[in-house]
Amino acid sequence: MPRFFRLPALLAAFALLAACASVPPPSPPGVFDTGFESGSLGTIEAVDDATWDLRLRNDNNDPSLPASFRTWFYFGLNRIPTGRPLTLRLSGFGSSYPAMPVYSYDRVHWRHFDASEVDWQSCPRSRPGQCRLVVRKAFAQPRVWIARFFPYTARELDAFLDTVRGSPYLTERTLATGPATGQPIRLLTIGDPPAAANIMPDRRYVWIQARSHPGETASSFLLEGLMKRVLADDGLGRSLRARYVFEIVPIHNVDGVALGNYRTNAASQNLEDSWTFASDGTPLPGEPAPPPEDLALMQAGIQPLLRAGARFALALNLHSSNAEPDKPAFFVPHFGSDPAAYTDAQRALWQRQARFAELVDAYYDGPIWPVREGGQSFLEHYFPERWWWASQQDAVDALTLETTYGRGGLGRWIEPDDLRRLGEAVAQAIAAMDDGTAEPMPVAPPGQGSHQAPAPTEEDL
Ligand SMILES: [Zn+2]
Repeated sequence: MPRFFRLPALLAAFALLAACASVPPPSPPGVFDTGFESGSLGTIEAVDDATWDLRLRNDNNDPSLPASFRTWFYFGLNRIPTGRPLTLRLSGFGSSYPAMPVYSYDRVHWRHFDASEVDWQSCPRSRPGQCRLVVRKAFAQPRVWIARFFPYTARELDAFLDTVRGSPYLTERTLATGPATGQPIRLLTIGDPPAAANIMPDRRYVWIQARSHPGETASSFLLEGLMKRVLADDGLGRSLRARYVFEIVPIHNVDGVALGNYRTNAASQNLEDSWTFASDGTPLPGEPAPPPEDLALMQAGIQPLLRAGARFALALNLHSSNAEPDKPAFFVPHFGSDPAAYTDAQRALWQRQARFAELVDAYYDGPIWPVREGGQSFLEHYFPERWWWASQQDAVDALTLETTYGRGGLGRWIEPDDLRRLGEAVAQAIAAMDDGTAEPMPVAPPGQGSHQAPAPTEEDL
């Protein structure tokens, strides 16, 4: 074709395309807002003046991250019309498990949408990107915030700490700051006497870390309930403080929380499987260096305590998991359930873990998923539990507790108070753990009882 014919032909083609395609109206300026801690949303496309197509984004907008990391969203709507339904169609999910979001008019009081306002359009588990969440609601106020689950940022942590800072047993210090945001990685110590200058040899130590995965907010509400019981001026609180010192990192991945990530820090590192430490806490030669946030916990938190003589009894790693809506919280113990393959130390640890999980279940008024095969994955990944095992063997009951975002076996969507009550049950289980009044849990033979449940998949965790 002669050159001078090309341009008119192209223009004609564009004119035809423009006539066929409906051009979406532009979004009103400033309707959507993510400029706050944990704010997150990907692309926004207006369909009409009351309907938007929204997509979740990758942590740090990093396209190299697995789709399964894409779970969190938290955004505000500004100057929206009230009293008539708006439709928000969310897609880009990395999980095919149904999601029931929450909304708030003040970012203090949150509630789930009513089931009639939400339609989860399911998709094959292998293709979560095809799932869609459609929210249709007439809001009562022109400013509203919407999130995947109840948000919990440094702001909520401070609001909680303000309710307990008067306690003489609580001390706070900063282990390090997030390399991207400068937010403090805090260590909360609960002990009696408070802020003891030296390790107390008659106390056992409990290490708790939460929010290595920043979007897993459910674990923070659990931690609130647990801390309230440990700090309480009652028989349980006094008994716990007489026997234990609690060392608690409430938000490990401070940068990820500030930036609205679900799974990683600002450098797209997964802090959970990057504990590349030798048993003495130094970085492992030949492995990628641990991220600064993990170094902070190890070198400013755990190691100085161990060197000073602290005897840890329990290391709890708090997480939250995408799951079937009715799945309750669950533990991820070590070694699975094949006692024939155990060493004595492995058997001892398994028994302690199983007993601890049973105690939590006994004290919680909701269900806990039965203790199940934890598999060997903790030995194959650089999880904190792997390091505790390498360093302390069965002396430390190191295990992960996963809360879930759904109904959790309660028959209704989980509320923060349900999670706080689970945290109280964990405190009660710790108090009962070493009181010598109960027999160790038997190890079930393979294939019997509750231990038949399958090992958790990567998506579950
Ligand atoms: Zn997690």
